Amino acid sequence: MFLENNIDKNNKIGWVEVVCGSMFSGKTEELIRRLKRAKIAKLKVEIFKPAIDIRYDEDDVVSHDQNALEAIPVPASSNIEILGSGFDVIGIDEAQFFDMGLVGVCERLAAQGTRVIVAGLDMDYKGNPFGPIPNLLATAEYVTKVHAICVRCGNLANHSHRISSQSELVVLGESESYEPLCRRCFASSRTLEEKSSLHKQS
Ligand code: ZN
Repeated sequence: MFLENNIDKNNKIGWVEVVCGSMFSGKTEELIRRLKRAKIAKLKVEIFKPAIDIRYDEDDVVSHDQNALEAIPVPASSNIEILGSGFDVIGIDEAQFFDMGLVGVCERLAAQGTRVIVAGLDMDYKGNPFGPIPNLLATAEYVTKVHAICVRCGNLANHSHRISSQSELVVLGESESYEPLCRRCFASSRTLEEKSSLHKQS
């Protein structure tokens, strides 16, 4: 479990934390847990999310257990740099949907003494690294990978397997569209899907 550094309000040192994993891994819950503790410590906290993520509520970071904190939807990472200055702690949810500029934004906020906590999907439904997350993993001081449980075999799941037929990379409305799978079950599903698409083409 992540434990916070000591705070020196006169000599603020910033850093970047990343919480990532598949869908249903509890990454938003972990983000909310850290932000709530920062609020208890009387730190100035602000939360951002991409304007694209409107699944549940316009202005809230909502995890699946309805544990909500108010968040500001912004269209681009540059908005976070402008709106986030002056806060002690910045939370960023669904960070995989932001542009690559997010990496530099987090670096500059941390350089100003801000603690930046980023949560997002590490991989897309194909198993490829997602958006700015890989670069954030490389540059962050602290990385926490959380995992779901494979719905087929019960092992640790690190993949978000898409069970809907839409072809866009971004499909909102999670629970109907995705299931968490382990490495082995994900690989066998992908093999089956490739076989069936080849069959359709021929
Ligand atoms: Zn499995």
